[in-house]
Amino acid sequence: MAKLSIPKEVKNVLKALEGADFEAYVVGGCVRDLLLGLEPKDWDITTNAKPEEVQKLFKDSFYENEFGTVGVKTSSKDANLHVVEVTTYRVEEKYTDKRHPDKVSFTRNIEDDLGRRDFTVNAMALRQAQGKQAKQEIVDIFGGQEDLKNTILRAVGNPDDRFKEDALRMMRAVRLAAELGFKIENKTLKAVEKNAKSIDFIAKERIRDEFIKIIDARRAYDGVLLLQDTGLLKIILPELAAGVGVGQNKHHVYTVFEHNTLALKWAADHDYPFHVKLAALLHDVGKPNVKRGEGPDSTFYGHEIVGSKMARKALQRLKFPEKLVDNISMLVKYHLFYYNVGEVTEKSVRRLVAKVGPENMGDLIKIRICDRMGSGVPKPEPYSLRHFQYMVEKVQKDPISPKMLKVNGSDIMSILKVEPGPRVGQVLAILLDEVLDDPKRNTKKYLGEKVKELGGLSDKEIQRLTKAAKEKEKEFEEAVDEETKEKYWVK
Ligand code: ATP
Ligand code: MG
Repeated sequence: MAKLSIPKEVKNVLKALEGADFEAYVVGGCVRDLLLGLEPKDWDITTNAKPEEVQKLFKDSFYENEFGTVGVKTSSKDANLHVVEVTTYRVEEKYTDKRHPDKVSFTRNIEDDLGRRDFTVNAMALRQAQGKQAKQEIVDIFGGQEDLKNTILRAVGNPDDRFKEDALRMMRAVRLAAELGFKIENKTLKAVEKNAKSIDFIAKERIRDEFIKIIDARRAYDGVLLLQDTGLLKIILPELAAGVGVGQNKHHVYTVFEHNTLALKWAADHDYPFHVKLAALLHDVGKPNVKRGEGPDSTFYGHEIVGSKMARKALQRLKFPEKLVDNISMLVKYHLFYYNVGEVTEKSVRRLVAKVGPENMGDLIKIRICDRMGSGVPKPEPYSLRHFQYMVEKVQKDPISPKMLKVNGSDIMSILKVEPGPRVGQVLAILLDEVLDDPKRNTKKYLGEKVKELGGLSDKEIQRLTKAAKEKEKEFEEAVDEETKEKYWVK
């Protein structure tokens, strides 16, 4: 066996424990990753020393939880090595709630500790002998190395029992399969299918964390298909599962589910950022709900609006941070933007950029590429999309927000001789509307005149104009929808 490289910070902890006559092993995911030639994300050590005994040995340590884990701080600059976790050999007894053991007890031998771990490839321990020869020895009582060689993920012990004890292990199985490109062994897979419903017992945050890793995995597409095939998806993200078997019209060869997942595949294959991958996966999530008719002439009007709301609800339920929820729901809402050369006007691009925010336009275009490629078309960026990109760049310098107007709030207050109040915002909204139609109007002179004009109007009239500007925005949205209905009445 080639020497596996253990960082000196970890070696020092092992050495200190062994120096005090305790047993100490590197264990779990880090051994798996070492054997695969990957860089471990975190380092875990297991020992027969009790938590108090571990703490005595390391001044810079803290008792992390009730499960016997002591965090030993190191001076490493590497974030994966800031803290080495040292856990006392333990076994877990009875899980009546499918997520927490009723009791954790310490045990005197490493074999028992390995037996409580989830998968054979995660149930190996590595001993680094001290001294000149520095021999390494692997404790592998469940055939982890063999499974690693055959790229198989297999539960330790009876899979059905193991998933009944802790339902999160099912998400871990899918996540590890997607990350490592492993197959889930048949009995283990069947047990996931059988117990899928009990994933509901697990805290949403923990499901979310595994789901994030699935979406961020190289094989995110395989991961989502696995979630679907095992029945987990129906429980954790029923909105997406609803697209399974939902056929589209003559413009599509794939079902809604196939299309959403292929959009994700394109994003994952091209290393798009996490939020773009997630938005690609959810971009057509509204379709099953708005489908009218069957077969080649079926329609999906308004799916982007419905989908944006559904994505918001789903991500909130999974406790994603509000900022990410807003961002993804926005990307889903505007993913149908209109970009045909000769028909898309600067005015409409400007309004789109104003709504979406210039900083998000690149992501929105990426989503559209995923959408396109997920439909099975041959090329990612036809001329029209490049042309659209050019138009976005062109209007980037145009004023698209109140801040960019040549006349600001205090100008308005001094021209109209009014105090701060809603009137100022209303006037700004009316001015912005003028300028979005024609950026040449963004001069002190033109806007100053306009403000004076507005000054002569009653509150009621101003309110009417503000409302009209808002309506115009809406009208714009509807107009886009009408256009898309004609052009892409498919969508
Ligand atoms: P990662 O590469 O993401 O760190 P990992 O397998 O190392 O993956 P950790 O959460 O770091 O995951 O857990 C370390 C080890 O603890 C696992 O390899 C496994 O042996 C054990 N383990 C973690 N979670 C569970 C669980 N729910 N049930 C049983 N054993 C678990
Ligand atoms: Mg780990």
